[in-house]
Amino acid sequence: MVSVPVQCPHCHSTEVIKAGKQANGAQRYQCQNGQCARRIFLLQYQDRGRVPEVRRQVVDMAINGSGIRDTARVLRISPTTVIAVLKKSRRAATRQPHVAASSLFTLHPRPAGTRRRAR
Ligand SMILES: [Zn+2]
Repeated sequence: MVSVPVQCPHCHSTEVIKAGKQANGAQRYQCQNGQCARRIFLLQYQDRGRVPEVRRQVVDMAINGSGIRDTARVLRISPTTVIAVLKKSRRAATRQPHVAASSLFTLHPRPAGTRRRAR
């Protein structure tokens, strides 16, 4: 039998405990590191919009000037998810709840007729 330690995707700590199951039956885990910003995570996500690597790419694309629909098309997630990720990323970066996302990202769409070519 081979046992693989479960690692927290945020702090890479192996001090992780099982934390119940999702409605679909997938095992949830909880990070026991007190300094870690992440609490609950899954090893395998069903939605692309929940995968930490995809969420990082959303923020990177926003910083590099990609629009919301642009980002959604490239990463194959919904525009609504892109907006939700950007709003939450601002909160996670500052660790302060209820800070307006608009102070870091401009969430307004590009004016009509100025659309960039699709990649
Ligand atoms: Zn952690």
